[in-house]
Amino acid sequence: MVKANPVRRYLKNIWDSVYSTAVGMRITGKYLMQKPITVQYPDERLPIPDRYRGIHYLEQEKCINCLACARACPIDCIEMDAIRHGKELEWVSFTVDYQKCMFCELCVYPCPKDCIHMGTDFAFTVFDRSELVLDLLSYKGMSREARIRKKEAEEKKAAKEAAKAAKAAGAADKSASAADDEEQEG
Ligand code: SF4
Ligand code: SF4
Repeated sequence: MVKANPVRRYLKNIWDSVYSTAVGMRITGKYLMQKPITVQYPDERLPIPDRYRGIHYLEQEKCINCLACARACPIDCIEMDAIRHGKELEWVSFTVDYQKCMFCELCVYPCPKDCIHMGTDFAFTVFDRSELVLDLLSYKGMSREARIRKKEAEEKKAAKEAAKAAKAAGAADKSASAADDEEQEG
């Protein structure tokens, strides 16, 4: 077996080092003068596509508490509670359990009012798992407009009943006076 010349091997090692460094630096040099593309998250964020399936948002004013979204959810992570006052709703809660939610969007399609959506928010860090049950309501109780509508409807109903009662009382008076007249004639 012929032994390799140590000087030659030494020089080859030097050449290999210089060559591989030059190849590596060629790539570095290519990007050296370009604008940096690193995003300083969370101060900066990349644009999120419109169809991104992040944390839900609810247009509460449009929601009719029909439960269609909750029924469509394959893992039962939507729960809601509202008290009905005629046509108006008094909201108590509308929660999504993000311990279970798999962001499948199946709750969005059956909504008859198109009021539950997948949002673009994704950062959801908590210290306690129970905090992953998120209430989507922006207000509890009734909205200001709903309170006004309810008050107007109640006033209208009261006026209608009063008019009905007055009419009934008028009719009763009329029949009583007619009976008196008959008695006098008799
Ligand atoms: S995205 Fe899917 S899993 Fe999450 S609440 Fe909607 S239906 Fe349920
Ligand atoms: S399906 Fe839509 S309208 Fe019905 S309860 Fe869900 S969010 Fe509200």
